[in-house]
Amino acid sequence: MAELSPSLSPSLSLKMLKTLWAAPCSALGLLAALPLLLFAGAQLRRIEGRLEVALFQGETPRHSVWARMPFSALTLGHVILGCSEAELARLRRHEQAHVRQYERWGVLFLLAYPAASLLAALRGGHFYRDNCFEVQARLEEEWPRDSG
Ligand SMILES: [Zn+2]
Repeated sequence: MAELSPSLSPSLSLKMLKTLWAAPCSALGLLAALPLLLFAGAQLRRIEGRLEVALFQGETPRHSVWARMPFSALTLGHVILGCSEAELARLRRHEQAHVRQYERWGVLFLLAYPAASLLAALRGGHFYRDNCFEVQARLEEEWPRDSG
């Protein structure tokens, strides 16, 4: 009689597949984070299964060039790059919605996101605000914490 081999639970297997599917984008995120970590004193933390890279501890200094950037966080796969720990905390739910988008789209998200911006602009909307992925991320910010 053959022994049954141990198997992964379906939810763990699905989580691993999502991580692998988004891995090329996460690799880009790590590549972008590397100079910040090595030369700019950025901090790397693992939070809720994602890697967060904060350039500054606490708040973003008001007089730094980063405080004048049009965005304060960027998600690439499972890597979230942020100006500061405070900005990452403030934007966590939004950026984690983008992580879930990478898990659905994989490397295609790198094409789908700018295509959605172009489509929004061609429709007369704003390339960022009316991008369907941004609209979805803003909606997901409002979801209860345990709904995934
Ligand atoms: Zn966003």
